[in-house]
Amino acid sequence: MDNWNTRTKLVHGGTRRSQYNEVSEAIFLTQGFVYDNAEQAEARFIETGPDEFIYARYGNPTVSMFEQRIALLEGAEDAFATASGMAAVNGALTSVLKAGDHVVSAKALFGSCLHILENILSNFGVEVTFVDGPNLDEWRAAVRPDTKLCFFESMSNPTLEVIDIKGVSEIAHSVGALVVVDNVFSTPVFSKAIEQGADVVVYSATKHIDGQGRALGGVVLGTKDFIRGTLEPYMKHTGGSLSPFNAWIMLKGLETIDLRVRAQADAALKLAEAVQGHPALIRAIYPGLKNHAQNALVQTQLGGKGGTVLSLDIKGGKEAAFKFLNAMTIAVISNNLGDAKSIATHPATTTHQRLSDELKDELGISPGLVRFSVGLEDADDLIADLSAALDASQL
Ligand SMILES: *Cc1c(COP(=O)(O)O)cnc(C)c1O
Repeated sequence: MDNWNTRTKLVHGGTRRSQYNEVSEAIFLTQGFVYDNAEQAEARFIETGPDEFIYARYGNPTVSMFEQRIALLEGAEDAFATASGMAAVNGALTSVLKAGDHVVSAKALFGSCLHILENILSNFGVEVTFVDGPNLDEWRAAVRPDTKLCFFESMSNPTLEVIDIKGVSEIAHSVGALVVVDNVFSTPVFSKAIEQGADVVVYSATKHIDGQGRALGGVVLGTKDFIRGTLEPYMKHTGGSLSPFNAWIMLKGLETIDLRVRAQADAALKLAEAVQGHPALIRAIYPGLKNHAQNALVQTQLGGKGGTVLSLDIKGGKEAAFKFLNAMTIAVISNNLGDAKSIATHPATTTHQRLSDELKDELGISPGLVRFSVGLEDADDLIADLSAALDASQL
């Protein structure tokens, strides 16, 4: 299995077959498992073998299949599947941290990640220093001998800044800090965060892994020691495990993720190139464009691929952005990303509504900014739709 190429791993990796030898992976929708006798139950609670299970909050065959398959894609020793992306972020942080610890984090974060770092960790006596993620000098200045952990989203939402995983990891490791990367926007297809130096990688599986907008899920990846020794005891006792049904959806999503995400990224580049000179735009932000500030890093860290999301800063502020959204006929207005359906979001009034105007300004979340997640529709149809909606935004 180790010498298989990625697409083979994504179709066959981690498969466990029951006594019926089913082709498609089974959904083991069960909370528990029957022991042959009392001695077996006792033995299993002392040590649980790889094909043995106790209770679905601890582990389940369908969930294990998903964990093994995503670990193969990421090149990680092990993985633990969680009920949502936020359960994964929360688990990766709070299973490690204790009162008195210091954390350095990028400040451009998904809203719920920011809430954990800004409001929840401080309740438990953890000190957090926020830095401008792409600026390595700020990371260098912020780490201290007591820094326990560094956290960032490798591609930020919604302004799509790319953070140097190798660079931040070297700085963090120089003071012995653990590097936790939220790799959602970079996707597990393009970004191998562990290979680049991260210790722990988290995904919201709700995004590209499902890829069809059906279910919530998440996953934490890292060394066997970290996943089984640090994270699993925390997750299994605090209740953030993934349901077997959702694990099955994510497992089947992995079979097609490489095909889907590559097609979406190719279409995203085509769209960005087609609309970037449009007179309604202040700027089109897409990491795959040569004029993106971190395009050189995109070449080395993401194999030249800019991901599946672009952001458009439309002239005329909120009013023009709303006209644009309301004029689209193919993309839907919602807040997921990585879906087969193209989805447009107005961050300033939805996902990032609660940020102060100062912070929105600082992060580049302007009133005219629209985030566009490119789906699996025909790229030429999307270009026509976007161009017409951009025209309409200025009427
Ligand atoms: C969506 C998202 C999350 C949270 O994932 P859920 O599955 O919604 O809990 C975390 N980080 C990033 C970057 C995301 O896009």
